[in-house]
Amino acid sequence: MALMGQMMGAPLLISSIIKHAARYYGTTEIVSRRTEGDLHRYTYRDCELRARKLAQTLEALGVKQGERVGTLAWNGYRHLELYYGISGMGAVCHMINPRLFAEQIAYIINHAEDEYVCFDATFLPLVEGVAAHCPKVKGWIMLADRAHMPTDPKVPLLCYEDLLDARDGHYTWPELDENQASSLCYTSGTTGNPKGALYSHRSTVLHAYAAALPDALGCSARDVILPVVPMFHVNAWGLPYAVPLVGAKLVLPGPKLDGASLFDLFEREGVTFSAGVPTVWLGLLQHMQANDLKFSTFRRTVIGGSAVPPAMIRALEALGVEVIHAWGMTEMSPLGTVCKLLARHADLPEEAQHRILETQGRVIFGVDMKIVDGDGRELPWDGKAFGDLLVRGPWIIDRYFRAETPAHDDGWFPTGDVATIDPDGYMQITDRSKDVIKSGGEWISSIDIENVAAAHPAVHMAACISVRHPKWDERPLLVVVKRAGMEVSRDTLLSFFDGKVAKWWIPDDVAFVTEIPLTATGKMQKLKLREQFADYKLPTA
Ligand code: AMP
Repeated sequence: MALMGQMMGAPLLISSIIKHAARYYGTTEIVSRRTEGDLHRYTYRDCELRARKLAQTLEALGVKQGERVGTLAWNGYRHLELYYGISGMGAVCHMINPRLFAEQIAYIINHAEDEYVCFDATFLPLVEGVAAHCPKVKGWIMLADRAHMPTDPKVPLLCYEDLLDARDGHYTWPELDENQASSLCYTSGTTGNPKGALYSHRSTVLHAYAAALPDALGCSARDVILPVVPMFHVNAWGLPYAVPLVGAKLVLPGPKLDGASLFDLFEREGVTFSAGVPTVWLGLLQHMQANDLKFSTFRRTVIGGSAVPPAMIRALEALGVEVIHAWGMTEMSPLGTVCKLLARHADLPEEAQHRILETQGRVIFGVDMKIVDGDGRELPWDGKAFGDLLVRGPWIIDRYFRAETPAHDDGWFPTGDVATIDPDGYMQITDRSKDVIKSGGEWISSIDIENVAAAHPAVHMAACISVRHPKWDERPLLVVVKRAGMEVSRDTLLSFFDGKVAKWWIPDDVAFVTEIPLTATGKMQKLKLREQFADYKLPTA
């Protein structure tokens, strides 16, 4: 018989994170921009008390362990209370992305069988639209006080602040099994119906520990952290757990994600660290460049969700902000890899350091990865061979919510991304497998092309998509939104690629557009672009 360890069997629970923050960082602040328009401030101690009142409320409403409670909310203190109150009492906090189509939202609420849905005032019209299609929802809870409740709503509503006021907070967090479900997120699903990733207390706490490590996100109690990445999109990359775990001050931007509002909040609250998708930083950079602004405290940001164009890394660095490129997905809680230099890279010339920092980085402990060819054979880590990226680990999905079969083969989850891995383990995504351009049997990385285009001063945003070609099957088309007030011709832009990529990778044409459609999570919607340009005649065809 194996000799068992003799340590306490304390389960890894989400409630233990907020209990820890309240007990050891009780006076540390959480500052939120509210839908009401003002800035709200309170402490971890206040947050934990209100999360307990929420747990009492849910029990009184008849919510049982394992049942789902939906949220439609911005990054704010009430949403944080939902994260802890719902999961802490043993129910499942289901974050719904309000940017999805109403039909998808109704589908998700019904598939999850949400008992209640808690929503910010902004989403009242959305709730009034979907409620009739969600007959199983027992109640819609508006995250507001009595004074801000609508007088004549089309759906019967419960008032969040009234519900909390009716409770005394005398509540002890239950000792759950750490493998119990804690929260649920659906993938944005560019094709087919969205699919649910059901996280556990154990996977969430382990992920929070790992995310906080110095060579991962690197969170400290001395930081002031502002997650721009929404709490309705993959748990805001785990920051709502990792930040209280380290006891840092948390700043939540609410609905105001434009450059001017973010800059104001960064300066006002002394933010040192942030996280968001590239499109958010585009807006902020534009605002700062137009107004000749500088940050006084902001030093580091994590960027992921889409590949970060090297030009964006340079632009933020010029403002004194270190960019940490990270990769992950809903099915991975989401963190997989983070890009930081190793000690022996310190003496490399700046150019060489940059080339490393542009990759998606190395795995954090807890994630294992490999790349394979079409027959499932593992490919070498030479930085050149590219293949399907597979992952495994304790915070990676085993099966989708309500699926009959596992989401993986032989214990490895196929990410749907195509990547290279270099001898040091730095992974670089070359494409989403659906977005790869297959020209004459060879693959062209759309991300590489976009990165080159994004470095041109007149380019605001660029997407590279495949277009049918009679000889090569597919050839790349570059779709470009020009920077306001700047001009560039097709030929100038194409000659910008000379010497930067292989000749046969250079796009066959450029289409200038006023807007590139974005997905509900701020990524360029290439599927839609491909539809839009389905009949496009390339000059080479
Ligand atoms: P989501 O589940 O919505 O977070 O989307 C996950 C997908 O976003 C991944 O499978 C990648 O295709 C893409 N993605 C996330 N981070 C990056 C990154 N740093 N570079 C390139 N693609 C990324």
